[in-house]
Amino acid sequence: MEIEQTIIDHEETIRSSFFFGILLVMGLWEILAPRRKLTISKAVRWGNNLGIVFLNSFLLRLVFPAAALGVAIFVNENGWGLLNYYSVPDWLAIVVTIVALDFIVYLQHVLVHAVPALWRLHRMHHADLDFDVTTGSRFHPIEIFLSMLIKFSAIVVLGAPVIAVFIFEIVLNLTAMFNHANARLPIGLDRILRLFVVTPDMHRVHHSVEDDEANSNFGFNLPWWDRLFGTYRDQPRDGHEGMTIGIHKHREPKQVSWLPGMLMLPFIGKMSGYVINRRSWDNKDRQEEHKD
Ligand SMILES: [Zn+2]
Ligand SMILES: [Zn+2]
Repeated sequence: MEIEQTIIDHEETIRSSFFFGILLVMGLWEILAPRRKLTISKAVRWGNNLGIVFLNSFLLRLVFPAAALGVAIFVNENGWGLLNYYSVPDWLAIVVTIVALDFIVYLQHVLVHAVPALWRLHRMHHADLDFDVTTGSRFHPIEIFLSMLIKFSAIVVLGAPVIAVFIFEIVLNLTAMFNHANARLPIGLDRILRLFVVTPDMHRVHHSVEDDEANSNFGFNLPWWDRLFGTYRDQPRDGHEGMTIGIHKHREPKQVSWLPGMLMLPFIGKMSGYVINRRSWDNKDRQEEHKD
């Protein structure tokens, strides 16, 4: 298909144009209508959080040069996956792929909160003392690799169309940066928007230091999974201005706001393991860190 070839030829340019475009739009929105006061200066936050973004894209290109699109091209050339097997029409295959990949991202997010070793990687995202557009791209390189492997497997099983994978990656990038923004939205607009997409007020609840709040609103793009599986929480107890963002036990700026400390976050402290009882299977490491 002609459009697929255009995408393949200009992937990097299209992807980075969307990234810098949304960064600019949300960055301006944060200056004009901020939701909360930042605790760490914007220069330090943007310098270090964007440093992680550049490091991650460099490492990704090194380890997986063909990336998700490469996997999708290979899978479709060989007619692999459910959507190819059942010869699903193109438009339906695109919709199914986007919704299925989003559901997998939700499940993966629940998993990285529940399993202690995975929480260690994911806590770099949560240790941010503030919540702004750059938080949306702040993930530990090992978590990024893990996400890639999960995504590759999903593409193979689905037989995901190249264009659908491309749309999904761009949309997820845009929505993740939108819903992490320190941007004020009129309450009425937020209420309508969050029926279709995760809004900043919805996802901010997930970045609370409180364990029950951090254990809600796992969605990054579509808000329906949280409502469907009972992990939805409307607002934080102390309100958006009063709530504390981050993790109780990791609040030293050198550790959580500067690149070297952030990269070391998964490897500090000892593991406390699982708590298994009849009513819950939970991550004690994470619970400990969310306690006072
Ligand atoms: Zn999380
Ligand atoms: Zn987040």
